[in-house]
Amino acid sequence: MMWSNDSQAFLFFSSFEGETMELLKSKILTEGKVLKDDILKVDAFLNHQIDPVLMDAIGKEFASRFAEQPVTKILTIESSGIAPAVMTGLYMNVPVVFARKQKSLTLTDGLLTAQVYSFTKQVNNQIAISSTFISEQDHVLILDDFLANGQAALGLIDLVQQAGATVSGIGIVIEKAFQDGGEKLRDKGFKVESLARIKSLKNKTVDFLDDTREVINE
Ligand code: 5GP
Repeated sequence: MMWSNDSQAFLFFSSFEGETMELLKSKILTEGKVLKDDILKVDAFLNHQIDPVLMDAIGKEFASRFAEQPVTKILTIESSGIAPAVMTGLYMNVPVVFARKQKSLTLTDGLLTAQVYSFTKQVNNQIAISSTFISEQDHVLILDDFLANGQAALGLIDLVQQAGATVSGIGIVIEKAFQDGGEKLRDKGFKVESLARIKSLKNKTVDFLDDTREVINE
């Protein structure tokens, strides 16, 4: 598509950004389940069943938000980061690497590892990538489904740094802004872009940072 002037392009991108966020928020409100004051279940469209139309919109959105950053690779963590990361890789035209949580007999070449404490499973996981796929020349965009206390993102940053590559930024589908992961990462100077930011999950209610709508789950 050709744009006759910059403002048309701006209008297109701003409404398109708004639409993606509205689509994501409406999915969270209609299909998300508040399990506890600090856990949101989104198995209906992201963590178990996957909504391809939403993933496509998310991919476009991240590609536009990180368009100014040099990005040669995307790094995520299995398994729920893979769908949004692949769509973003498609729109940015870069390969996607996912860190493994399970030991694999085939993942042996130049293994880079980091320890990550899992917020949802409450156990320490070793995550690993092969240095074959991330090298010193790479500029890596880190993507994940949720941001809580930042352990997964910090583990992925550790892997990028062990590879001698540069972190271009961090993209998160759902940030729980009442936990301190976002602050930790932004304080370290990383560009963090979250598509939906949740202020609170108290009283079975999803309260977004920029507006408030309610969902009550049985
Ligand atoms: P963090 O490492 O930032 O503490 O937590 C982020 C990771 O834990 C994500 O990769 C995600 O898998 C998981 N996670 C954290 N909070 C939630 C949540 O409320 N719901 C779901 N489904 N996953 C979460």
